[in-house]
Amino acid sequence: MIEGYCVKCKAKRPIADAVEEQMKNGRKAVKGKCPTCGAVMFKILGSKSMTPPAAAAPIPTPAPETPVPSPAGGSTPAPAEPAS
Ligand SMILES: [Zn+2]
Repeated sequence: MIEGYCVKCKAKRPIADAVEEQMKNGRKAVKGKCPTCGAVMFKILGSKSMTPPAAAAPIPTPAPETPVPSPAGGSTPAPAEPAS
């Protein structure tokens, strides 16, 4: 049983007729009603239990371990030329 908070009873109640829904932002929520007063209850489950869409999770770019030589360095070693 999913528990939610009833704003009318101002107490925690088990959500009756709970229906799991997915919101537009990808999160899951449970919609139901209070078994005591019948008020609509809505509980956001969050996105911990599911994989969020790729757009919501920016992938941090790790810094390269090898230093990138500056193009303006001018000290690029020339390729070995064959002795003629
Ligand atoms: Zn209630």
